[in-house]
Amino acid sequence: MNTIAVLTSGGDAPGMNAAIRAVVRSAIEKGMRVMGVRRGFNGLMHGDIFEMTLRSVSNIIERGGTILYTARCPEFRTEEGVQKALNTCKYLGIDGLVVIGGDGSFRGARELSEHGLPTVGVPGTIDNDIACCDRTIGYDTAMNTIVEMVDRLRDTSESHDRCSVIEVMGRHAGYLALNGGIAVGATSVLIPEFEYDFERDVIDRMKRTRRTGKKNFIIVAAEGIKDEIEPMAAVIEEATGVETRYTNLGHVQRGGSPTACDRVLGSKMGYWAVELLSQDIGNRVVAQKDGKIVDFDIFEALSMEKHIEEREYKVAYDISI
Ligand code: ADP
Repeated sequence: MNTIAVLTSGGDAPGMNAAIRAVVRSAIEKGMRVMGVRRGFNGLMHGDIFEMTLRSVSNIIERGGTILYTARCPEFRTEEGVQKALNTCKYLGIDGLVVIGGDGSFRGARELSEHGLPTVGVPGTIDNDIACCDRTIGYDTAMNTIVEMVDRLRDTSESHDRCSVIEVMGRHAGYLALNGGIAVGATSVLIPEFEYDFERDVIDRMKRTRRTGKKNFIIVAAEGIKDEIEPMAAVIEEATGVETRYTNLGHVQRGGSPTACDRVLGSKMGYWAVELLSQDIGNRVVAQKDGKIVDFDIFEALSMEKHIEEREYKVAYDISI
């Protein structure tokens, strides 16, 4: 393999830059050329591509976001879109590709592999929702951001004897809400994976906790739960008499300098992806399993499922009373 390309796709995540840096440096170390593709599959279809050097990735390991930019690209879901991308690769002599992104991006990567372009996926997503992988790039940073933000909210909630209802990211996966909630000692954690009863799991818990002397409360909810989160504040205030404010942490959760964990994970996974391509191995997803970097067939990776265990969910409840 002489020339490989790297792109970031879907939602951005802190640590993607560490992965890009590792891909570029390790490929050049192996004697390959590396092309950077801007804005995901868009750039691949339209030829927004440039050659990267050892110095194009200097001083990026500490930066959030992605220096290659990212995008969602509906056109790439069509056969014509895939053909356009393949033509670009043929024209520029690109023999292999690293796709850093989430599940959706891996479906795109699988398409390219099936059409003969060896492609390796690297899991970059704050949601930690890649089934084959214990930890994805960006998750640790996002969780630490949540903890920092909620700690600030707690200072003001505590001063005013208030309740804070905090919405965190996670449309389908509750990892950020659950583990962020445990880390901030939330009174209740609501996630899409588990049924909850609002009266029992929020209102009654608050009342019970208040009887033990607690006066300020934190409720953490993932954006993907069945109910709207913002109106909960008024319901809680009405039912408990505790002044309640709603805060959506929003896109701050995506940004910021990656933690040491995400820098190391991004670096190791980017390196591993190039190892595979250098051996002409494509159609794989790099993952971290039981502390080790491994890889899976993309098809197999996409068909896997991972679940939050009930006892993990129970931890959040049993120790926050
Ligand atoms: P993420 O990678 O974070 O899960 P998306 O689901 O938005 O983000 O997917 C990112 C991009 O991957 C999409 O905009 C599209 O270009 C590409 N993609 C998603 N699903 C497919 C698919 N089934 N076939 C081809 N490309 C896809």
